[in-house]
Amino acid sequence: MEKIVLPDIENLHQIDVYIANGGYKAIKKALSQSSDDIIDQVKKSGLRGRGGAAFSAGLKWSFMPKTTDKPKYLCVNGDESEPGSFKDRQIFEYNPHQLIEGTLITCYAIGAKTAYVYIRGEYHKWIKLLQKAIDDAYEKGFVGEKMKETFGTDFYCDIYIHKGAGAYICGEESALMNSIEGKRGYPRVKPPFPAQNGLWGCPTTINNVETITNVPKIIEKGWEWFANIGEPKHPGTLLFGVSGHVNKPGVYELPTGTLLTDIIYKYAGGVPGNKKILCVIPGGSSMPPLRGDQLEGIKMDAESLRAAGSAIGTGGIMVMDEDTDLVKVLARIAHFYHHESCGQCTPCREGTGWMEKVLKRILAGNGTSADLDLLISIASNIEGNTVCALGEAAAWPVRHMITRFRDYFEKRVKKEIKLPVKNTVHSMRHTAFPIE
Ligand code: SF4
Repeated sequence: MEKIVLPDIENLHQIDVYIANGGYKAIKKALSQSSDDIIDQVKKSGLRGRGGAAFSAGLKWSFMPKTTDKPKYLCVNGDESEPGSFKDRQIFEYNPHQLIEGTLITCYAIGAKTAYVYIRGEYHKWIKLLQKAIDDAYEKGFVGEKMKETFGTDFYCDIYIHKGAGAYICGEESALMNSIEGKRGYPRVKPPFPAQNGLWGCPTTINNVETITNVPKIIEKGWEWFANIGEPKHPGTLLFGVSGHVNKPGVYELPTGTLLTDIIYKYAGGVPGNKKILCVIPGGSSMPPLRGDQLEGIKMDAESLRAAGSAIGTGGIMVMDEDTDLVKVLARIAHFYHHESCGQCTPCREGTGWMEKVLKRILAGNGTSADLDLLISIASNIEGNTVCALGEAAAWPVRHMITRFRDYFEKRVKKEIKLPVKNTVHSMRHTAFPIE
């Protein structure tokens, strides 16, 4: 299978190797066409956002105003703070120039001359690696004013890295823009949407790192080529970050529509000790969890996962074996979202803390069946009643895990489940989900 985002080419992060493998030809090709043509090709390719919402990238670009006296901006979202998600850092490390080239093409398509790559502050190593790649691209005249000379056009574009300061909420697009503006990372009320009123009140497009990294290959090989890979309604490949109870945790680039069980057993080597799977969270910690006994036939793409009652999210697959303490997992997830709530709106600020308290009560052995109903009620009252999607991110795992594993949780509150001496949650490896 041909890989689009992370091809198996040694030292591709070095600019000379990238150029030798056809790098920076797609931007040249793009510049010979109109920006409308580029948007049209990306729309037809079916490329959908890889940051969680799976929204059409080309359609998003088309929302940018054609005529405006304000500058336009592109924000490339590399905040990657979703627990269980660790794919964008692979791009920073192994294929940064394709990200840079995709950024240039996107800027040309939307008419932006400035792009900010927003990277979470904890990614020290990857910030350095991407900065080195950007510096090398400037040096060769692929970025900045020198582009005019290199490509013989009027278009040029500058790229800057903006470091986050460790807040999950800054991965939300409007909080991300506030953060770049030097303000507190509060999500904004929408509408207005970023294409009308983004960075400093100017038209802005925000796309995930993986989304942008697909763009050069679409321009180089044509939208038909891309549209024919994987599932027709969600074409291309995805970077699946597999963590938890698997023998070979890691990031696997596979076509959309690959079976979840194939990813776990064929690529990630199955479950240690051949234990049964109790639960899988298929797209990062905020996505509705799936029962281990209902994984057969589930394909990994936006439409198939929606039909299975979950969502593709960031493609971060967290596998939990039969000895996992789901109460502890859920309490830890609830703690994370409570800690990361910006506190701006009441249902999220109060509800996330309340859910954490109830779950900790159950964890301490003092819970009742009524607490399970209470948790579902709190989660249901958060959903749809908040300024940003962190509300849903906090509510979904709680509501869906308790509903889908009601039998398990009932047994836990009645102390009918004997937990293994070793806390298996602590043994989850290679995860961006810090277990205390
Ligand atoms: Fe802040 Fe939570 Fe409201 Fe989002 S939902 S704005 S994180 S309080």
